Amino acid sequence: MTSFDVIIVGGGPVGMGLAIELGQRGANVAVVERYEQPQRVPKGQNLTQRTLESIAAWGCEPELRAARVVPRGVANGGLVTYGALLSDYHYDWFPREKVQPFYGQALDRLPQYETERVLRARAAEIPEITTFYGWSFAGLSQNDDGVTVEIAEYKGEAHKTLEAAYAVGCDGSRSAFRDAAGITQTMSDHDRRMALLVFNSTELHRLLGERYEERSFYNAISPDLNGYWLFLGRVDLGREWFFHAPVPEGTTEDCFDAEAFMHRAVGQEFDLEITHKGFWDLRVALADSYRVGRAFVAGDAAHSHPPYGGYGINTGFEDARNLGWKLAAVLQGKTVPGLLDSYDAERRPVFASTARDFIEKFIEEDRAFLEEYSLEKDEVAFAKAWFARPEGSSEIVKFEPNYEGSPIVAGDGQPSAMGDHRFEARAGHHLAPRALRDGRTTYEALGDGFTFFAFDAPELASAMSELPVTIVTDSYDGERRDYAARAILVRPDGFVAWAGDSCDDPAALLKMATGA
Ligand SMILES: Cc1cc2nc3c(=O)[nH]c(=O)nc-3n(C[C@H](O)[C@H](O)[C@H](O)COP(=O)(O)OP(=O)(O)OC[C@H]3O[C@@H](n4cnc5c(N)ncnc54)[C@H](O)[C@@H]3O)c2cc1C
Repeated sequence: MTSFDVIIVGGGPVGMGLAIELGQRGANVAVVERYEQPQRVPKGQNLTQRTLESIAAWGCEPELRAARVVPRGVANGGLVTYGALLSDYHYDWFPREKVQPFYGQALDRLPQYETERVLRARAAEIPEITTFYGWSFAGLSQNDDGVTVEIAEYKGEAHKTLEAAYAVGCDGSRSAFRDAAGITQTMSDHDRRMALLVFNSTELHRLLGERYEERSFYNAISPDLNGYWLFLGRVDLGREWFFHAPVPEGTTEDCFDAEAFMHRAVGQEFDLEITHKGFWDLRVALADSYRVGRAFVAGDAAHSHPPYGGYGINTGFEDARNLGWKLAAVLQGKTVPGLLDSYDAERRPVFASTARDFIEKFIEEDRAFLEEYSLEKDEVAFAKAWFARPEGSSEIVKFEPNYEGSPIVAGDGQPSAMGDHRFEARAGHHLAPRALRDGRTTYEALGDGFTFFAFDAPELASAMSELPVTIVTDSYDGERRDYAARAILVRPDGFVAWAGDSCDDPAALLKMATGA
């Protein structure tokens, strides 16, 4: 029997990110992943600025940027079209670049298998991480002292038993770990059969290039799709594509003419060579709890949804940042196990809001638009309403997950994915970078653990000096004034625990922020 601090089931992006977060913090981690190599399905491409902050925290940002496939000049955003992918009606969508000033890293875009390759390489450098590639999860039990995880060779007969203080299921939307832990999930009624195609076509590159400026993805809405999308994304520039769209219930590989389907989606015939054909069920599902005893779920095992807006891999990485520092702090005896309850309290409402206020809202808005306007019914009214739509699409910049009202941040409120981007330092919100006098930004000055910024607040800085925090002092001047607070306590995941001008008992702030 082999013992660890944490066993992670599933070495996809979220499992590997969590392993790195924990391993870097000194926890002994086992990762159980059934595949020897990342699977070559080009999903999960759209990586936010916040995700790149996490990748940088995990020590592999240059490697990830170098693994990008599409040249840097091609816009990360996309186009929405009407009817078919080649259409006279289109507008730009996904202006995530607009929120760049509020983050310390620029966004990026690359196929998920490349991201996974980079994370696997980084994990291999960390001695605290032991990987069991080619092994499957086979059972979970737990008691007050720890967890036992049974694993079996994916393509062999061998079995092993692993023990740990905690276990985390990062094994995707069909998570066997979640079921074994007894965690149920609530699903919304989007049940739709979706086709996923990967194909090569230089002709499609030419056709799109003749019509539009180069974009990373193109999605069409159409009256017969009821608010769901025909979604076409680039894998590289000029040859490889991935595509997903709803197909009639009961469609199987045998009865699906993928070429004809693609021709209809694009709006004309073109040459293509299909290299992957798969199906999945589109639904929104949320685990009813992210924790049972010593077992947790993260990533798609905790929440799954259609890939509309790039919230999947990015939300999963944020789960890893949130859970990672908390597990490490408890394992090191720095705080009480009760801190771990805040993982569910912060992350579950954020996903519920992501699903409600963004993903399902996009579907509902498209559906309502298509019900009201039709090119065939009234072309003039349709065109007027269509070209007014891009204004509404800026809603995406309101995606600002925050933990207002969490038990471990100061102040009231309700954790939500819906917020606004501001430089003002607000408890529960991600801290936006501002310049320090020494040439760094506050983002670059963050320590590995808690960081306390004191701007012309010497009494607060000295009250904190005995505590395990990185202290950064500076004048309350220049860009730092944008924070509207002389002192800010920032958590290891970059979120503000407290911000203010004065505090009677700074030690009590740290206790609150660590659940003590
Ligand atoms: C077509 C498509 C496009 C997408 N595009 C985007 C996008 O642009 N942006 C975005 O943010 N998200 C996107 N997503 C969603 C994104 O891919 C997922 O959210 C992401 O993969 C979740 O990562 P994960 O690590 O939680 O789960 P997964 O990637 O599913 O990884 C789970 C891992 O667990 C392993 N595993 C499963 N069962 C076991 C077992 N029993 N034993 C051992 N190992 C096991 C699997 O092999 C896998 O490696 C897209 C999804 C699809 C389908």
